[in-house]
Formats: sequence, structure tokens, C-alpha cells
Amino acid sequence: MELLDKFGRKITYLRLAVTDRCNLRCQYCMPAHGIDIVDRTELLSYKEMYRITRVLSELGVNKVRLTGGEPFVRKDFVNFLESLSFNDKLEEINITTNGALISNHIDDLERFKINAINLSLDSLQKEKFAKITRRDVFDNVYDTFEKLEKSSLKLKLNVVVQSGVNTDEIIDFIELTKNKDIAVRFIEEMPFNGKGQRDISEVWNFKKILNLIKNNYLDVEPMLSKKSSTSVNFRIPNYQGTFGIIPAFTRTICNDCDRIRITSTGLFKNCLFDGGVFNVRDFIRNGASDDELKQLFIDTVHHKPENGFIAEAARGNAVSESMSTIGG
Ligand code: SAM
Ligand code: SF4
Repeated sequence: MELLDKFGRKITYLRLAVTDRCNLRCQYCMPAHGIDIVDRTELLSYKEMYRITRVLSELGVNKVRLTGGEPFVRKDFVNFLESLSFNDKLEEINITTNGALISNHIDDLERFKINAINLSLDSLQKEKFAKITRRDVFDNVYDTFEKLEKSSLKLKLNVVVQSGVNTDEIIDFIELTKNKDIAVRFIEEMPFNGKGQRDISEVWNFKKILNLIKNNYLDVEPMLSKKSSTSVNFRIPNYQGTFGIIPAFTRTICNDCDRIRITSTGLFKNCLFDGGVFNVRDFIRNGASDDELKQLFIDTVHHKPENGFIAEAARGNAVSESMSTIGG
């Protein structure tokens, strides 16, 4: 039994949001006052998350990304990681984090064989970072960045490219890859900010980001990436690290999509842009067996929309929810 959609795409990757809570307030993700968080009882429990992951891993899911909100805000998240690491069907467990709460946990992450950390870092300038995140935690996050870089964990930096805010730092981020074995990934900003479209004066899409980089370097080498990679990857010759661009909003990567998402309240999403298909938590709390869950997952994935535009058109309302409820 496996998860196959009607376009022949095989699902092997789960993005699981472990909470909708966050300690930061990034401008592109949520309003200053935060979002309406749900009651704790509505969040999936760790036991439920463990079960969902195990059932999915029996259907061929071998890679999990834990995200949020901020995953490390949830109590006992590190213990949850340890229990997940016992699932030998999972080849990769990765985490997306803002890094503000993890400097004391890096040893644990190495011990649990976490594969990669995606650290969100949108500016290398303390004051600008505080403006973007609306919190004064730059020194802490940068310190974590340096510790992670020295650790055995694979490190990717997520940089949301924000018009008029951090586009002047794109080259500074590339220069970070000169002597550091990291992958910097520039993400197109999307309207998932909890209040609808932000006023974006100039669209910084894949093409514009790449053009800027090409205008600054004589040679930008394209790299071969896995078919299902979210980013299109490049390197500057002789630089230790690499960089990539994630065409998140222009959606040119849907053909090779291998992922599904489950939000912190158990909403199953076939696509980042759909409005959610069904609530796994409710089925579990109503006593569904593992076999029933498997059938549900198989049937749902079969109807995965062909691409993000079709998914968005089918949802009937504009995308405006905060990314912290979806998990990115
Ligand atoms: N709190 C963690 C973090 O920030 O890394 C994990 C959750 S966050 C929602 C996951 C990723 O989504 C982060 O890299 C963040 O930068 C990205 N993200 C959030 N809102 C976005 C938006 N409107 N457009 C593009 N990326 C966004
Ligand atoms: Fe929090 Fe991550 Fe959203 Fe920033 S991007 S507000 S760190 S969930």
C-alpha cells in the first residue's frame, strides 16, 4: 500500500506543524498582535502525532519535517523528537525553526539523529531583524546559527525575500556560503500572513532574485537537485556552501510534489494552497482504526490537485491564513 495521486506522484514526505503558537511575530507571517490561537485541546497531542506519522510511514512516508508556529515553543517537543526517532521507517527527520529557543538543545538534536535544520534568518542586521520579527532576539538566533554551523546537523537558512526590506542583503547571504558549508534558500514571499495581501511595491520572484545574483557574479553554477526539491539550487565556484531559490508563490515545482501537510489541529492538506481536506484529529478521536486511517489517507491523496493554482482556485476564498497555522 502506498500513497499515489492520479498524476502518478508518490507521496513520501510529511510536513507536520506541532503548534500554532510562536514566540516571534514576523511581519510576513502574522499581524503584530499575533493570530487567534486555538484552545490547547484542539491541538493534536504528541500521541496523536506519533500515531499519524507511524501510519503514514507504513504507507511509504519516509521523511518528516516538523514545523509550526515555532516547534520549540511547545512543551516537551524535544521528548517528542526522541520518540519519533525510534520510527525506523523514517529516513529523515528535519525541523524548521526560528532558532530563538534551541541553543541548549543542539546536542539532543545530534543525538536523535535529526538530519537537517532549516533556520529562518531574514536579515544579518540586528535592527532590521528586530523590525521583521518584532522581537529583539537577533544575538540569540545568530549565536544558534554559529553553533548549528559547527554541529553535525545539515544547515539550511530560510530567507523570505521581502520587497524593500532585505533585498539589499541577498548578496551578503550568498557571501555567507563562501566559507560555510550551508545552503541559503531565498523564498518568494506569499500572502500567508493572517490578514490578506501585504502591500508589496515590487514583486521579488524567482527570476528577479536570480537576475540580481547573476549581475553580481561572473559565474553562477546550476546544481543538480533531487526531482522533488523545493528549491532550484546553485553555487558560486569555489564557495563551500550553496544557495537556492524557492519559487513558492510562482509554483513551478508542483509537477514533482511529493508532500502532504498536517496542521497543528489535524487538518490534512494535499497542497499548501488548498483550504484543507479533512481533519485527521476528529477521525482519531472518534475511534478510527489504523486501517481506516490508511484508507482515508490513500483516498485523499488520490485527489491531490495537480498544482497550487488549481488548489487555490478550488478553495473558493483568497489565501490569507497565517503560515504559522499551516507550517510553511
Ligand atoms: N517558526 C518556524 C520558522 O519561522 O522557521 C517554523 C514555521 S514558519 C511558518 C516556516 C517557514 O515559513 C519559515 O521559513 C518562514 O520564513 C516561512 N514563511 C512564513 N510566512 C511566509 C510567507 N508569507 N511567505 C513565505 N514564507 C513564509
Ligand atoms: Fe513565528 Fe516562524 Fe511565523 Fe516567524 S515565520 S512568526 S518565527 S511561525
